[in-house]
Amino acid sequence: MKPGIRAAQPDNTPRTTAALSHVIGPASSGRSKCRGCGRPILRGDLRFGERAPNLFADGEVTLWFHPLCAAYKRPEPLLQAVAETCENVPGRENLERTARSSLAHRRLPRIDGAERSPSGQATCRHCRQPIQRATWRIRLVFYEEGRFSPGGFVHLDCRKAYFETSDILDQVLHFSSALSDGEREELRRACDTDPAGPALPQR
Ligand SMILES: [Zn+2]
Ligand SMILES: [Zn+2]
Repeated sequence: MKPGIRAAQPDNTPRTTAALSHVIGPASSGRSKCRGCGRPILRGDLRFGERAPNLFADGEVTLWFHPLCAAYKRPEPLLQAVAETCENVPGRENLERTARSSLAHRRLPRIDGAERSPSGQATCRHCRQPIQRATWRIRLVFYEEGRFSPGGFVHLDCRKAYFETSDILDQVLHFSSALSDGEREELRRACDTDPAGPALPQR
């Protein structure tokens, strides 16, 4: 496979933006950073490259992801790349299953992790009520034209109503690398209670 960074194409090269082809393969360097989680992609690790038109110059750009991060946040191009790759993609079944579930619920790709709200300033994107300080909230991002932008927050308790599924814990934890083990455990427990049902007795 060619090195990951490609020079901008000169003007006389025909541009076929309709046929951008994404790539999956081992990272040839340790210099790329995952667009999905912001962490480095280590040399030799499997990575997914989404090709997108360059908005600022001729040619295209490649957005690199860990394959699982892309399955969550960019399910469509990831599935396309997996389908077009002749070689056996490690973890293929899991990637496809994750991407299909992300595709089935249009808001799932927005999940960017969870945190305890550092202030009471933010409003929930679902119920429009303030998010109390120190309570759990889910971070959202929106993807547009090759970039993710911050998209606000939802209460953890609004997860089912907002995402239209309550099966979000794995994805939330995946993008919450800043949380300690203890916090992850608390989050897991908070997700055990069904926000739409009666409150479960305290353990
Ligand atoms: Zn990642
Ligand atoms: Zn809410």
